[in-house]
Amino acid sequence: MPAWIVRIWEIAVSDEAASTDRHAEPVRPAGVRSVPAAPVAAPAVPAPRSGDDRLATAATDRTAEVSDRGDAVCVIGAGGSGLAAIKNFKQYGFDVDCYERETGVGGAWNWRHERSPVYSSTHLISSKPFTQFPDFPMPDDWPDYPHHSTLLTYFERYADHFGLREHIWFGTEVVKIVPTSDEPTTTWDVTVRGVHGGALKTLRYAAVVVANGHNWAPKLPGYPGLDAFAGTVLHASAYKDAAQVRGKRVLVVGAGNTGCDIAVEAAQQGARCWHSSRRGYWYAPKYAFGRPADQVNDRVLGMGLPLAIRQWLFHATMRMTVGDLTRFGLPAPDHKIYETHPIANSQLVYHVGHGGIVPVPDVERFERNQVVFTDGRTADPEVVVLATGYLPRFEFLAPELYGGDERGRPHLRWQLFGPAHPTLSFAGLVQPDSGIFTIVHWQTELAAAWLRLAESTPERALQWWHRAAEPGRRYSDADVKDSSRHWLEISHWVYLKALQRALTDLTSGKVRA
Ligand SMILES: Cc1cc2nc3c(=O)[nH]c(=O)nc-3n(C[C@H](O)[C@H](O)[C@H](O)COP(=O)(O)OP(=O)(O)OC[C@H]3O[C@@H](n4cnc5c(N)ncnc54)[C@H](O)[C@@H]3O)c2cc1C
Repeated sequence: MPAWIVRIWEIAVSDEAASTDRHAEPVRPAGVRSVPAAPVAAPAVPAPRSGDDRLATAATDRTAEVSDRGDAVCVIGAGGSGLAAIKNFKQYGFDVDCYERETGVGGAWNWRHERSPVYSSTHLISSKPFTQFPDFPMPDDWPDYPHHSTLLTYFERYADHFGLREHIWFGTEVVKIVPTSDEPTTTWDVTVRGVHGGALKTLRYAAVVVANGHNWAPKLPGYPGLDAFAGTVLHASAYKDAAQVRGKRVLVVGAGNTGCDIAVEAAQQGARCWHSSRRGYWYAPKYAFGRPADQVNDRVLGMGLPLAIRQWLFHATMRMTVGDLTRFGLPAPDHKIYETHPIANSQLVYHVGHGGIVPVPDVERFERNQVVFTDGRTADPEVVVLATGYLPRFEFLAPELYGGDERGRPHLRWQLFGPAHPTLSFAGLVQPDSGIFTIVHWQTELAAAWLRLAESTPERALQWWHRAAEPGRRYSDADVKDSSRHWLEISHWVYLKALQRALTDLTSGKVRA
């Protein structure tokens, strides 16, 4: 590798660069404090203690009685995003009720949960500092890429540390949310019910934060002949353990991070593994220069190099380390790095090189006992794992409230607020090129800051809103693919800067277009 390329990376990962690590000091706009709480008046409505007395008066239709929770905020879901929302709205002085359909916190990272997409071997793909909440760092003695069970411990500690559990109604599902007016500052009627039955109950809230996750509703491909295929077919959301592929001939469809993980597992545990991908990808190792690759990448980003130079540098470095992927039988990437969601997997190319994984192109059709690929090759798997991704779903909301188009794609302002109502926000509805929870922290801080301003100085809050970013703006400096897999894709740094600017405008009194 030419010495000057090595030098750029060396500078990037040096301690000197480390001292300017932007993630060591979170985005903290002037005048906005995350901890301790923003100074605010006590909530108008006392915190709920008993579900029955609070819910007893509610009813199922709009003509029936509704329990008015005053200026309280409703949060849907107690995964990492919902927990951040509870904490930040609480710190801005709001009373918060969170409804969670499961019986514990952690969302996707609690693999006992019915809809959890994680499998027993799941570890973080993003490294610790890019995943954690800025005001609650993961312990120093945890590894760079913790196991899913460690992540669950993290969320449990976060919930306990900030006293969040008393705000959560477990085993309770939100089934409907309707605005009570067309005004931007509308309140919301939220209908809930126990997951195991019981009456529907409706409560009125000043604002709603939707944090229902977007990695639980499988996106299923419609291959010809799939229904008649004799083998076992499962979506990755139903893949839990290597026992499901042990000793079997396995086809894994899809080359996202999950598909690559499962293919690697099938290479080690199965009798044979084919891995089908529609296009070539950049399979980046999880470590570069002895550091987590996302941290190295971010240091280079911090040097202020233009996108084209960063892309060139990355391509050159990949060529000199991982090498020419086509030599392994993998298709060459048909796009530049950063134009698709990053794949971090150090083992995929290794197992292709050892013959454990046979790369194949897209599936053309299924027959009863075999699969035919677009290049005419065939395979006879016993198990097919469709790692074909997930789609966002909001069964409890009318599509116009999240700007849903004919393909179901949401169009939010700042990828956070409902297009017409800042009292409706969506926490964690992003797919960053980093971890998600640092970002969710700042999203929910912005939503809470806006609601506080709307209560104290409504005209300023509305002035800010009327100049808001247009619905559906993309927050990436690269030309990201327009596939459903990339609808929610953001460059973490571009997006954090946008949130920072929005928070600064909101709290400084300046309103910029
Ligand atoms: C295999 C895999 C690996 C991943 N690796 C990473 C990684 O390395 N880094 C990273 O940052 N992200 C990763 N992710 C993305 C992951 O989805 C997010 O980290 C995280 O789970 C998002 O948190 P969330 O709270 O937004 O959603 P979730 O964790 O999905 O939580 C949503 C919660 O809402 C509840 N809920 C849903 N609907 C309702 C309703 N109607 N009423 C009441 N409750 C409801 C659910 O029960 C759930 O508890 C990974 C995802 C997968 C599948």
